[in-house]
Formats: sequence, C-alpha cells, structure tokens
Amino acid sequence: MVSRQSALDRSEIQDGLVTLLGAERVGLDPGELRELSADRYRKYATVHGIYEPPVPAAVVRPQSAGEVAAVLRFASEHLVNVVPRTGGTGTEGGLETIVEDTIVIDGSRLDRILEVDPIDMQVTAQCGVRLQGLEDLLRAQGFTTGHSPQSKPLAQLGGLVATRSIGQFSTLYGGIEDMVVGLEAVFPDGTITRIKNVPRRAAGPDIRHVVIGNEGALCFITEVTLKIFPYYPDNSRYFGFLLDDFSVAIDGLRQLVTAGYRPSVCRAYSPPDARQHFGDLAQGKNVVILVAEGPAPLAEATGTAIEGIFSPISAARLGAGVVADWLDNLNWGQDKIDAEKATMLREHHLGYTTEVSIGWKNAAELYGAVIGRIRREFPRSGDLTLLGAHSSHSYQTGTNLYFVYDYSIATEPRDEMREYHVPLNAIIVEEALRLGGSMVHHHGIGKYRAPWTEEEHGSAYYLLRGLKEQFDPSGIMNAGTIFPAEGFTDPYPDADKTGRCGGVI
Ligand SMILES: Cc1cc2nc3c(=O)[nH]c(=O)nc-3n(C[C@H](O)[C@H](O)[C@H](O)COP(=O)(O)OP(=O)(O)OC[C@H]3O[C@@H](n4cnc5c(N)ncnc54)[C@H](O)[C@@H]3O)c2cc1C
Repeated sequence: MVSRQSALDRSEIQDGLVTLLGAERVGLDPGELRELSADRYRKYATVHGIYEPPVPAAVVRPQSAGEVAAVLRFASEHLVNVVPRTGGTGTEGGLETIVEDTIVIDGSRLDRILEVDPIDMQVTAQCGVRLQGLEDLLRAQGFTTGHSPQSKPLAQLGGLVATRSIGQFSTLYGGIEDMVVGLEAVFPDGTITRIKNVPRRAAGPDIRHVVIGNEGALCFITEVTLKIFPYYPDNSRYFGFLLDDFSVAIDGLRQLVTAGYRPSVCRAYSPPDARQHFGDLAQGKNVVILVAEGPAPLAEATGTAIEGIFSPISAARLGAGVVADWLDNLNWGQDKIDAEKATMLREHHLGYTTEVSIGWKNAAELYGAVIGRIRREFPRSGDLTLLGAHSSHSYQTGTNLYFVYDYSIATEPRDEMREYHVPLNAIIVEEALRLGGSMVHHHGIGKYRAPWTEEEHGSAYYLLRGLKEQFDPSGIMNAGTIFPAEGFTDPYPDADKTGRCGGVI
C-alpha cells in the first residue's frame, strides 16, 4: 500500500466529487468500491472475499470529456490518486487501487458510437463502447475493425487502447496500435487533447503513441477513431495441422509470415496447451491453426501458401470445421468468468498466463529455457496441472510466446499469488529479457511487471520516465502502474528491493 498524499480526508473527497458531478454520477457503496479495488490478477483471493488493496473513496461515472477534466483537475489540485477503468477485464493489476482514498474514473457511461465513415473507412466511438457491440454494428454494415481479443464481449475501447491490446486476427489487421487513427484524451491538469484523424503524417513524432498503451498512468482516453475494413466471412478458409516438434511448428509460421503472407489467425500450440483446446484430437502433438481471409483471390493465395509450407511437415490434420468451431467459442464473456470463479472455489485450481515477445531466432530457445527452469526451480512444480505455451501473433521479425500454467492450490487463498503466480511469472519475464525479447507482449505492465520496467526499456527508459514527469508531475495517475510506486511491496511480502521474488525462485 502507498500512503495517501492528499490533504483531503475521505469524506471531503467524496463531497468534492458530488459537488462536481452530482450524486447520481458518484458511487459510494462500500461493496461496489471493494469490487473495484482489484482486477483479475487477484482472482483467487477475490473469490474468497479477500480484498487487500485499500478500498477507493469513490467511483465516478462521467458522461463527457469535460466531466473527466473536472475530476482530474480536482484530483491534481488535492493530490488524490486516480485509477481509470472501462471494461474491467485487465489482468495485470492495473485496476488495483494501491493508494488509500483513490478515485476510480469509470468511463463505461461514455458509450456512444459517434460516426461510421465508409469513405474514409473509420469509426469514431467513446471509450465505454464494448468492442463486441461495435463489431456487431459494423458487421451488419459489411465492415469490421479486425480487432478480436478473447475479451471482446466485455472489454471497452478505452481499456483496449490503454493496454495496447491485440486480437486473434492480428497477423492480418495488426494490434490496436495499427488500428487507431486518432483519439481524444484528458490529461491530469484538465487539458482535453484531440489527436486528429489523418491517414499518415510527418509532423514530428507520432503522438498517438503517448496515449496508446499508457494504462491510465498518463491520461484518460475518452474517444477513439479506428480503421475499418470490408468484412468477407464467406471467403475465410480454416486450416489445422498436427506436428511432432514445437520448433518446427514455429519455423513454419516464420516461413509463412516472412515470405509476405498474412493469415489472419496464425498460431502454434505446444502439446500440453494444444490438449486443453483440442483434447484427444490433438493426439498429444503440437497444433498449428491458420485462417486465410480477405478478398477471395488473396484468401486463395494465402491458403495455397499455407498448404505448401505445412502439408509436407505435418503428421496429421484437424478438420476445417473443428478449427472454425473452436474459433467461434474462443471468446470469454461474463458466463465463462463466472464459471471459472465457481471452479476455483470448488476445486482450488486455476490457470494464469504470461505473454512475452521474442525474435524468430530465439523463440524455440525461450520456450525450452522457461519450461526447463520452471521444472527445475519452481518449488511447487508438483502442483502444476498444465505447463505449455503458444505463439499467437507473428511479425516479420519475430513472434509472441503466451505461456500458460494451471495449478492446484495447496496454500491459503491469500498466499496463492506469492507462492505460485509470482515465481512462475518472474521466470518467464526473466528468460524473455535474458534472450533479448520483451517481457510483455499485450496485457500491459500493470503493477506486477512494473519492477522490470526499467530493465525492459534500458537506456530508453529516459524517454518513458520523461513522459510521466511531463504529463503527470504530481503522480496522481494510477500510482504503481507501469512506473513502480515507492513503498509498494504488496503483494510480494518476500520481495527484494527490486520487487522481484528473489527468495522464492
Ligand atoms: C478472459 C480474458 C481474455 C483476454 N484476452 C485478451 C486478448 O485476447 N488480447 C488482449 O490484448 N488482452 C486480453 N485480455 C486482457 C484485457 O481484456 C485487455 O487488456 C483489455 O484491453 C482491457 O480492456 P478493459 O476495457 O477491460 O480495460 P480495464 O480492465 O478497465 O482497464 C485496463 C487498464 O487500462 C486502463 N484504462 C481503462 N480505461 C481507460 C481509459 N479510458 N483511459 C486510460 N486508461 C484506461 C486501466 O487503468 C487499466 O490499467 C483478456 C482478459 C480476459 C479477462
């Protein structure tokens, strides 16, 4: 926990917010505020009713950029910590309120789709629009954003942009950073900034990237303009291959992508990970999934290249129908989240993930290094019920590895993160950095990879740190997120001074 900096006490903060926005836009219910103090990272403790971060002073639900500006000005003037939020699906502690008497700004009432422009091929919507709703509207008109993260039913545009999210069709459409044309954001001093919509410009550095990925640590995103593309569902072709060797599977993806082909879905699963998705159909092998889509001749050419590379190196195939059904059921809405909670309570068992990126040269070595270290060094490896990885987003220069680890919990709920998730996550992060990769591919740094932010950026940390000093000089924006907060040691009671779990691994 970080001590409160503000001179105002809790009730003065609450009264001030009610005066600014009116009582209807300010939530003070203690149960709701406790729910808002944590994100999915604490899922096991949360299902057991343990809420360890300080409970926020209030949640505000602004309905205009001007109201966001008023709240941020108030917070700046009185040094009150602020945590932005939209869909609440963040996984890395970015929503946790580690400072006492924090204000949560919930953007989900900024939920209007403002304009679909079929000539300049872009859509403008407010930060609280759910991606699923936006996609449903666009597809009905023959368009798509091309963005399809697994959390699409719940995640909203503000959070999707703030975390540099990425979706299942990324190899064709890119990550959110490739999709944002322009946006509106509010900074802590109340400045409302609109970065205009142009196809490209050479007017200095690309300032969109100050906002995209800021995780609520620099500003509050209120409006986003995204590219749109024609939607061609009838042209999609689905491919599934079974391979004996994970490194051969990864190399097949490399050959395909570096040759210039852009399958929308482009994935390779190691055998344990493949089993959880495809059961016995995976036959204990690695599974490669590819989808060719777009205008018919392009989808056809991509399909031909896929066959040319993967048919000779695969041992067997998955039917196109199996792949299409699997993809249709991949996304997570509230129903799956509720079912996961019930299972955790009943079976004391859960799964986590850590996603990193790496150049093609070192991808197979990273996989082996992580699995080897976990098997050798993780003291509770006997409790692991799944340990594997997949590559799900590929680029000209490399790919991501999304490590998955499930375990049965033999400790008190409160100790689960420290005993299991923290040491496993640390091994993956350390190995990615050691081999020259990035410690985080798409979930954001949040609060729990912040101990490694400086090492991640090296000499470029100068630039990142400068952004925080320039735009949030009072340090009111989401303390502890991206930038480590002084005095923040929870939930690593055994951590050394860098925040790492040195005593455990
Ligand atoms: C089941 C599941 C599947 C997932 N699958 C994917 C996936 O495929 N790809 C992927 O990239 N991620 C995935 N995620 C992670 C998560 O969905 C993404 O990070 C998503 O972008 C978060 O959006 P949100 O609206 O829920 O944001 P929130 O959870 O509300 O917030 C996330 C972060 O963004 C900040 N933030 C939120 N709104 C704003 C705003 N308006 N202005 C400034 N900062 C803001 C918050 O402070 C926080 O740090 C998944 C999560 C779950 C639970």
